[in-house]
Amino acid sequence: MKLILLGAPGAGKGTQAELICEKNHIPTISTGNILREALKSGTEMGLKAKTYMESGQLVPDEILIGIIKDRLQEADCENGFILDGFPRTIPQAEALDAMGIGIDAVLDIEVADEAIVTRMSGRRVCENCGSSYHLLYKQPKVEGKCDQCGGTLVQRKDDHPDTVKERLEVYHTQTEPLKEFYSKQGKLLVVHGQEEIEATSRLVEEALEGLK
Ligand code: AMP
Repeated sequence: MKLILLGAPGAGKGTQAELICEKNHIPTISTGNILREALKSGTEMGLKAKTYMESGQLVPDEILIGIIKDRLQEADCENGFILDGFPRTIPQAEALDAMGIGIDAVLDIEVADEAIVTRMSGRRVCENCGSSYHLLYKQPKVEGKCDQCGGTLVQRKDDHPDTVKERLEVYHTQTEPLKEFYSKQGKLLVVHGQEEIEATSRLVEEALEGLK
């Protein structure tokens, strides 16, 4: 299964990706996590991305296209993968098409902006492995600690309300046109994100049913 997850920041792409991955034994490739990792290790790419990320802007296309080209060549992607956070612009989607990778479907998780702003204030991520949690909807087994690796859970700098508004604007202007792009290719599947993770996950499963 080669799947793209589309949706506003905080729509639940990361959470749904984790669930689909577990069931299908394929990796999730989160460009946000790759960039945060690079930032943490202080690599040249991380330094280049820093100001864009912290202000809620998109990192330039050529950097992201390079990251994805390299990552998709790794052995664990042979049987499929889920892209979480890529593509985010038309040029990125065109570059992916040009790589000759036959994407099976693009799953768009729709959530209204007002709900996103509320959700993001409760989101927490593991500073070690990037797994995501929520103070209300996805609590870890031990408060403040990651279920996967025991790392500390923190709030992302870009989940601050002002940055969230900026990210939503960027989403609507630069990423949302991808819906039409993939709809024209006959690949777009739409799911309405629910408050409860399990409810969304059921809708996601139904939408993906035909792909297996
Ligand atoms: P995310 O974790 O997916 O919300 O990504 C966090 C931030 O990383 C975004 O706000 C962007 O600054 C940057 N980023 C992640 N993926 C991309 C992408 N495909 N294109 C451009 N910037 C990206």
